[in-house]
Amino acid sequence: MRIVLLGAPGSGKGTQAKLLVEKYKIPQFSTGDLLRAAVAAGTELGKKAKAAMDAGQLVADDVVLGMIQERLATPDAKGGFILDGFPRNIPQAQALDAMLARVGQPLQLALLVDVDIEVLMKRLTGRRTCGTCGAIYNVYYTPSKVPGKCDKCGGTLQHRSDDNETTVRNRLKVYEEQTAPLVSYYKAQGKLRTARGVGSISDIFKAISDIIEAQMRPLAAVGVGMSAAKPAAPAKASSAKTVAAAAKAAPKKAVKKAVKAKKAAPKKAVKKAVKAKKAAPKKAVKKAVKAKKKK
Ligand code: AMP
Repeated sequence: MRIVLLGAPGSGKGTQAKLLVEKYKIPQFSTGDLLRAAVAAGTELGKKAKAAMDAGQLVADDVVLGMIQERLATPDAKGGFILDGFPRNIPQAQALDAMLARVGQPLQLALLVDVDIEVLMKRLTGRRTCGTCGAIYNVYYTPSKVPGKCDKCGGTLQHRSDDNETTVRNRLKVYEEQTAPLVSYYKAQGKLRTARGVGSISDIFKAISDIIEAQMRPLAAVGVGMSAAKPAAPAKASSAKTVAAAAKAAPKKAVKKAVKAKKAAPKKAVKKAVKAKKAAPKKAVKKAVKAKKKK
């Protein structure tokens, strides 16, 4: 399964991506995490990225595209992946489509985690992370018992450098201007699905998992690209394996046909309905004439 998780900063897509990694056993590639690691390690790439990140602006496309290309080429990515925080604008989305088309592995789903802007502001500016164990708090929604100290390990809580109010406003503005247009981009491709990103993490995860499974089931049934529908369920483990094996073995033609059939299905149904509607009056007249003749 090849998925893009879309959502504004603070929508919780990173948290959901991590849960999806556990459930479906596929890797998550987060450009934000990769960039933060590069900044922390003081690499050339990190030095290039830091100024843009601190200002809440996007890092140059060629930098993130290089990072993603490298990750998608790893053996890990062969069975699918979750992209989190990438693409962030239309040129990145087009470059991703081109990259995946070259290897005949198109994206299957763009899943938008939708959250209102006021909630996003509080989530981001209120976020604090324990520098020792990584536990996450929020001063508005889930504060620690002692301000600034982690409940779990007593470590010091840190405020991410790009979570201050000015940078957060910039990040949300950049999202509206550059990333939100991706919603229409993937809608036009028929790949967009939306989950509301409010409520408990587990409820949101359930909504997301349901969407993923509904989207993948028809493709998995004909052997296209879903490596493990429910790896956690032992009863289904063998059939999931069979599906994965079938997907690998399926000749390209069959795969193309299946995808075409899936795309054509709604159109066919509409055509049939229109035809039936057009034919209806004629049929009624014929029937009436026949009845009259009989009399
Ligand atoms: P995130 O953790 O995804 O919110 O990313 C943090 C910061 O990293 C963003 O505000 C950007 O400066 C940068 N960044 C992350 N992903 C991308 C991307 N795909 N394109 C450009 N910049 C990015």
